[in-house]
Amino acid sequence: MGRYTDSVCRICRRENLKLQLKGERCYTDKCAMERRAYPPGQHRHERAKFSPYRIQLREKQKIKRMYGILEKQFYNYFRQAARQKGKTGENLLVLLERRLDNMIYRLGLAESRNEARQIIQHGHLLLNGKGINIPSCLVRIGDIVEVREKSRKMPRLLESLESAPRREVPSWLELDQKNLKGVVKTFPKREELTMPIQEQLIVEFYSR
Ligand code: SF4
Repeated sequence: MGRYTDSVCRICRRENLKLQLKGERCYTDKCAMERRAYPPGQHRHERAKFSPYRIQLREKQKIKRMYGILEKQFYNYFRQAARQKGKTGENLLVLLERRLDNMIYRLGLAESRNEARQIIQHGHLLLNGKGINIPSCLVRIGDIVEVREKSRKMPRLLESLESAPRREVPSWLELDQKNLKGVVKTFPKREELTMPIQEQLIVEFYSR
């Protein structure tokens, strides 16, 4: 599987948006968007043409990179969203939010989605009492995710919980911080997803 290995801060600069891909550093003045808030590359000062295609493409790339998903998997989410009832764009956002790595990030058990993926892949979690190591697993209402007993003293987990108050746990999740356990109360509603995404542009991109 392909993997992005360049600096993730370049992605934020390319999308001209803080995508919060580096955890705690994103909230400090070391953030590359604070220091160099212009696109990376040699021709960054040339005026770019903003055709409708380009605007749609950038919106798609922005959300794909925010959740750390590759093209093929992202397109599969789009197709799944299109098959569901309701607005495809909103369905897509809800599907992305339901990924297990996103849930761990939203609960504050990891500082970034990337770190959440590592925690899951290294087998530190239980989903409904059973071991899980698939970050893309979609959680359902009533699902309970908890940190394994032996992993509860993990330093990076404790560090994440310390910095978690910066990001509120969304209302569709419930965190039991004492027992390092999270519950899916319901699925998120569009108005609860506050990141600056125009999902309609992504629908238009794939409908060309
Ligand atoms: Fe983006 Fe975080 Fe890097 Fe800032 S520090 S550019 S928000 S990944």
